[in-house]
Amino acid sequence: MGAGPAGFYAAEAVLAGHGTGNLDFFNRLPAPYGLVRDGVAPDHQPMKSVSRAYAKLLERSEVRYFGNVEVGADLHVSELRRFYDQIVYAFGAQAGRRLGVPGEDLAGSRDATSFVAWYNGHPEYRDAAFELDCERVVVVGNGNVALDVARILVLDPDRLAVTDIADHALRALRRSRVREVVLLGRRGPAQASFTNPELREFGTLVGVSARAAPSELELDPESAAAALADRMKSRNMATLRSYAGEGGYERTRTVRFRFFASPVEIVGSGGRVAGVRVERTRLAPADGAGLRAVGTGDFETISCGMVLRSVGYRGTPVPGVPFDETRGTVPNDGGRVLGADGRAVPGEYVVGWAKRGPTGVIGTNKADAAATAALMAEDRAAGIGTEANGGAGAEGVGVEALLRERGVRWVDKRGWARLDAHETACGKAQGRPRVKVCSVEEMLELAGPPEGADSSSKGG
Ligand code: NAP
Repeated sequence: MGAGPAGFYAAEAVLAGHGTGNLDFFNRLPAPYGLVRDGVAPDHQPMKSVSRAYAKLLERSEVRYFGNVEVGADLHVSELRRFYDQIVYAFGAQAGRRLGVPGEDLAGSRDATSFVAWYNGHPEYRDAAFELDCERVVVVGNGNVALDVARILVLDPDRLAVTDIADHALRALRRSRVREVVLLGRRGPAQASFTNPELREFGTLVGVSARAAPSELELDPESAAAALADRMKSRNMATLRSYAGEGGYERTRTVRFRFFASPVEIVGSGGRVAGVRVERTRLAPADGAGLRAVGTGDFETISCGMVLRSVGYRGTPVPGVPFDETRGTVPNDGGRVLGADGRAVPGEYVVGWAKRGPTGVIGTNKADAAATAALMAEDRAAGIGTEANGGAGAEGVGVEALLRERGVRWVDKRGWARLDAHETACGKAQGRPRVKVCSVEEMLELAGPPEGADSSSKGG
């Protein structure tokens, strides 16, 4: 359930382990590939090449695809249990985390996750409008998503025009008045979770100055030792030192890296964001290990017209699937889903961000999915599975009939191939990898009805 990277790696590992058997993907959106389509930044096209392997897997005769089918709404998990011996949850973590500070709901205070979904053409965000009429944007958080959104805000739109960025976003970014993006880390530069190629890229962007306040790059002994011991962190420090300086206004746009600044309030004026009040921090030992930020009592307000919170993703529950509200994940033991009684739910498994939380890059999901698939093979050999477990309803027989009966219009893999061909053909005509279709209705129209279906069933 979920046709993003984690779902595909799980499918690959399961099919390799089982040798035979049928496998069905259920995906809420019509188009597959999850964060590869809706998360990876449009100017990072090479990262999307992993989808070629996913497309190959979809082509296998034992694999079916049900796009535009929402488990929990169109089909209940209890129904899946009747149809399938084993179910794998790969629904990721969709929502952005909140800061929990006053002013967070002002106009102009937004989730970076929604900005990402918008520029990537996620159908549910195509009508969103962002406050790009201001000169300064503050991005809260020091992870790779913060870098992605900052880069999209400062890149020359002509560079974006040759990517698969959503057309509505390109139009809006061409009109953008944003000149400066300030990234805020609540801890120091040695604690940032940026990966170095992504951080270094800011030094290469045409028309963009990258700046870091020199006084905020000084490290306490513990952070200095940690940075020395970790290759990524020491590279990040070297990159940030190469950005050291206060100016930056000589170029078209500036990205400013700030540290030891924790937001305590989003300040408004006339109902809209006017700034972010931050408290200067220092580092202190955290409970357990590492260093945490503690306030110093010194405050500063950074004026801006939009704030993007980029402080991590959070899973959202699916009806009928166990969910840990605190962690925002499906409770599990190495990938075996755990019920309320703490015992493994027979035949149910989880992979990816729904399993371990929103950490790691696309490739991280491969080993993680293989570990879950190994447990699935073990259980299968021991005869442990859902209530279907090899019975008459097993292997998806009847699921199409049920969807049809409910008037659910799904996209099968031939339909996705038609939609994909349309998008790439439109892209070719414009010298772009693809032009994304961003409306579900249009996607369904282009995909056409699933094989064997009568075309009168409902869409959306
Ligand atoms: P992330 O790497 O976990 O970063 C979250 C950031 O938010 C951290 O700097 C954290 O600071 C900060 N934060 C959390 N709560 C905060 C608060 N209340 N106030 C201020 N700051 C706060 O998450 P992400 O950027 O969303 O990325 C998710 C995953 O996707 C990561 O594994 C990332 O590497 C991956 N990703 C990869 C790429 C790529 O490879 N190009 C692109 C995008 C995403 P603390 O450290 O102090 O908690």
